[in-house]
Amino acid sequence: MKIAFFSYHSYDKKFFEQENSKEFELHFYRNPLDLDSLKLAEGCDAVCVFVNDDVNKEVLDGLKEMGVKHIALRCAGFNNVDTDYAKEIGINVCRVPQYSPNAVAEFSLALIMTLNRKTHRSYMRIREDDFRLSGLLGFDIFGSTVGVIGTGAIGAKFCKIMLGLGCKVMAYDVKENEELLGLENFSYASLDDIYAQSDIISLHCPLFPSTKHIINKDSIAKMKDGVMIVNTSRGALIHTGDVIEGLKSKKIGYLGLDVYEYEKSIFFKDLSDTIIEDDAFARLQTFSNVVITGHQAFFTETALTNIAKTTYDNLHKLSLGEECLNLV
Ligand code: NAD
Repeated sequence: MKIAFFSYHSYDKKFFEQENSKEFELHFYRNPLDLDSLKLAEGCDAVCVFVNDDVNKEVLDGLKEMGVKHIALRCAGFNNVDTDYAKEIGINVCRVPQYSPNAVAEFSLALIMTLNRKTHRSYMRIREDDFRLSGLLGFDIFGSTVGVIGTGAIGAKFCKIMLGLGCKVMAYDVKENEELLGLENFSYASLDDIYAQSDIISLHCPLFPSTKHIINKDSIAKMKDGVMIVNTSRGALIHTGDVIEGLKSKKIGYLGLDVYEYEKSIFFKDLSDTIIEDDAFARLQTFSNVVITGHQAFFTETALTNIAKTTYDNLHKLSLGEECLNLV
């Protein structure tokens, strides 16, 4: 089977080559998949894409015309693919629903610890030989109330990490996770109760029309003054303009983002020689109580190995017409 990889980076190539059992012929392209680049998939059975490749109707039509049969997402989220249309025209879409929930859950904790104890600021200060502590005051995580929205694979791991640190965890999900029920200091609660009582709110639900902008001016108004919000899920769960207002009014005390609503034109690229045209992003970067990382929560060796293995397994099953549980 011939696979065209779009938006690839050196690390994708390394892990996909490492895990290839020679069943697959790999072609790597730096370009994102779009109407111009799709010609690169000529003669391929499958395309392998990532979070910001926009696989819309026109792209799907183009792929279909060239005989591409499968779209393999090397990520969990699939909001960037028109899956209904893909189904309609008979193109399979598969994904990697889980590659390392620990990686993302642990990274959420990294953002919380950085924001709270301000290690991003102390690192810079020490490099300037400034050893003052003023402005670096944190709080004990132990005893804090943590609100978790979405308790699937990642959210559940995150709940357990925070319980292990001695927090009270309140969670909301449309479907309760049995793995968490009965754990000491854990309870499911309404979103309003979570907003009212949480010191830290961490987002772990997928991006759906129903969850888009779940963090907006109305939900922010219901939160505790000085609340910490952390998003390692999908950028558009947060209304960017509203959190900027929340930060300016000091209602939001800390914001940790590994994903950003308009990340598509920014993340995974070296833009150090260019001008950032996104004013909202530039404004976010001016706050010392905001930490932004470029969609790296998943980025561990364990996760990249699992992504390659599962993608190959998905395509192997699809090519043989076997049942593939990771079909979207
Ligand atoms: P999952 O499918 O295991 O869990 C998602 C949970 O969200 C489910 O329990 C589901 O019931 C719940 N949910 C659905 N609608 C909801 C709603 N309206 N309100 C509250 N909860 C709702 O997914 P996962 O593996 O835990 O991943 C969660 C998200 O993390 C993914 O959708 C993806 O967007 C994101 N993610 C980010 C990275 C990263 O590198 N930053 C990596 C992997 C995944």
